[in-house]
Amino acid sequence: MGKRTKKVGITGRFGARYGSTIRKRVRKIEERMKQPHKCPQCRTKAVRRISVGIWKCRKCDYTFSGGAYVPETSEGKKIARITKREQSKTAE
Ligand SMILES: [Zn+2]
Repeated sequence: MGKRTKKVGITGRFGARYGSTIRKRVRKIEERMKQPHKCPQCRTKAVRRISVGIWKCRKCDYTFSGGAYVPETSEGKKIARITKREQSKTAE
């Protein structure tokens, strides 16, 4: 086991800096970010963030843009829905 980090978890690296409220907020985001995410192409949970807003699947090498901290944002879903609707319109 690694270093013991009381209750601060991942944000223990910040020490006592930045204030507890900010650290808690960062922890929530970062823990979600580091979880394996589902690949929109091969459906395996092998997607990792390679840069801010850029995600890559380790299994099929599919690279795509997404949210800065999670591959799928509620904003992105909204846009995807609109795009889909527009596409079906032109198909008719
Ligand atoms: Zn994949």
